[in-house]
Amino acid sequence: MHRNLKAYLVGGGIGSMAAAAFMIRDGDVRGSNITIFESQPLMGGSLDGAGDAGHGYSLRGGRMLTTDNYECTWDLFKWIPSLTNDGQSVFEETVAFNEVHRSDSMARLVDRRRAKVPVSSMGFSMCDRAELLKLSLTSEDSMGASCITDWLSPSFFETEFWAMWVTTFAFQPWHSAVEFRHYLHRFLLEFSRIETLGGVKRTIYNQYDSMVRPLQAWLKAKGVHLVTDCTVTEFDHRVDNEQLIVTGLHCDRDGSRDVVTVDDGDLVFLQNGSMTDASSLGSMSRAPARLNKSHSGGWILWEKLAVGRPGFGRPAAFNTCIAQSCWESFTVTLKNPAFFDLMRAFSGNEAGTGGLVTFRDSNWLMSIVLAHQPHFLNQPDDVQVFWGYSLFPDRVGNFVAKPMDCCTGEEILQELCGHLRFDLDVVETANCIPCRMPYITSMFMPRLPGDRPLPVPIGSRNLAFVSQFVEIPDDVVFTVEYSIRAAQMAVYQLLGITTRIPPITRHDHSISVQFEALVKAFK
Ligand SMILES: Cc1cc2nc3c(=O)[nH]c(=O)nc-3n(C[C@H](O)[C@H](O)[C@H](O)COP(=O)(O)OP(=O)(O)OC[C@H]3O[C@@H](n4cnc5c(N)ncnc54)[C@H](O)[C@@H]3O)c2cc1C
Repeated sequence: MHRNLKAYLVGGGIGSMAAAAFMIRDGDVRGSNITIFESQPLMGGSLDGAGDAGHGYSLRGGRMLTTDNYECTWDLFKWIPSLTNDGQSVFEETVAFNEVHRSDSMARLVDRRRAKVPVSSMGFSMCDRAELLKLSLTSEDSMGASCITDWLSPSFFETEFWAMWVTTFAFQPWHSAVEFRHYLHRFLLEFSRIETLGGVKRTIYNQYDSMVRPLQAWLKAKGVHLVTDCTVTEFDHRVDNEQLIVTGLHCDRDGSRDVVTVDDGDLVFLQNGSMTDASSLGSMSRAPARLNKSHSGGWILWEKLAVGRPGFGRPAAFNTCIAQSCWESFTVTLKNPAFFDLMRAFSGNEAGTGGLVTFRDSNWLMSIVLAHQPHFLNQPDDVQVFWGYSLFPDRVGNFVAKPMDCCTGEEILQELCGHLRFDLDVVETANCIPCRMPYITSMFMPRLPGDRPLPVPIGSRNLAFVSQFVEIPDDVVFTVEYSIRAAQMAVYQLLGITTRIPPITRHDHSISVQFEALVKAFK
């Protein structure tokens, strides 16, 4: 029904790729009428995974998914064929993989003596329980732009629950109380199994290989134009009846500029903001460069569009305080199984079953994850890869007298081996690539209603926003699901598709889930 309409998507993250797929699958838009512009050399945005055994692998993130939630994600990936398992969809291969490799962490928290911290108790006092309950039951309308610390006493942040929750989901005490409340509701099912990460599902390989590649192959087969190394710097527009209509896109491809005309009836989707904007990689001998949004231009289009248009949100709520939104991850490539062997002996988990191991007392608040191997499609049998991150990269380490964000990959390994009491020989041939991400938790910053636009903003005729910075009631940011749900909502609204979008599963309304959570809170 929409076969002749053209669609232009600015940004090549999973949100845009999903929007293109929904337009083809559910809107009958011709694939060859869809173009995605991405400023980076690869599609996939934050859902990355790159490198090889020789140069070292790098992942900005290691992602946990669930099959009890993530309704729109699996609605899409039930449709996308796997590239590695003939006859199976990405959803089917992921389910089958997780049947065999179940998450059951046996070393979730490790203390300063390198002892496993008992985690069957959440460590709450009666005051902590009462405050948490009050926060979860308060209406969002009355919470304003409050922070988590406005609701919970200092003792709460010393509990085992906080140490596990905060490192599973990457919250900081100064982040949005409203979003923290969303998480408590959306992931209530995870509350009672937070210490084993029993609800966490993983893809077979990293998410670039297991999700982005198959989706990209499907889109290409449908004729979608995937244009990389191309930044959209400006929108031309007109206003009709107080509604903004985008009429042209200014594209910069390696310094050559052109303008793409957007005709009446055509659609434009913008990825307004990115958690990995201005991220930078270091090396074994170099700390990552300290970049900010002025180096990348990723937020500029949203900032320009939002001026004088309240319906288009307020980017400054999210991208103006790097000190509160920055953390650093690292990817380690090993050519010696000793590290994995020692970790198995210490943690009791085979790689791929343990999830996060967090060094609770580390100044940097460091965690590592040993995924099932191989973690990359092109990873040789005798190479191992793991990922880690730290929530406080601006603090001096326990074993390296420097803030993490000034450290080389070699120094990060020294700090890690210090916490594990591993001899440095174990990582002698390792390649550790650090990654600084100044806006990684920007979507957790305290916000007011209206700071995030709707997927199709009020006052827009043909422009939608698809990102982590749109308003979706009850869903939670910092998830693949959020971008895919935003994409489905935007596409269905602009194309007038009336099929029901998979609703958010309200585990928090289930009596048995509530009961389990209550029991857990009193352990
Ligand atoms: C370290 C880390 C850990 C994570 N952990 C999890 C997890 O455990 N579970 C989970 O579900 N999710 C996790 N996520 C989140 C998940 O990866 C993201 O939510 C999701 O990938 C965001 O997708 P997106 O398409 O909205 O945006 P992005 O992936 O950020 O894509 C936006 C893209 O737009 C491009 N762009 C922007 N402006 C322009 C322009 N003007 N012209 C051209 N291109 C432009 C950018 O270059 C970028 O590639 C994690 C992410 C990271 C980084």
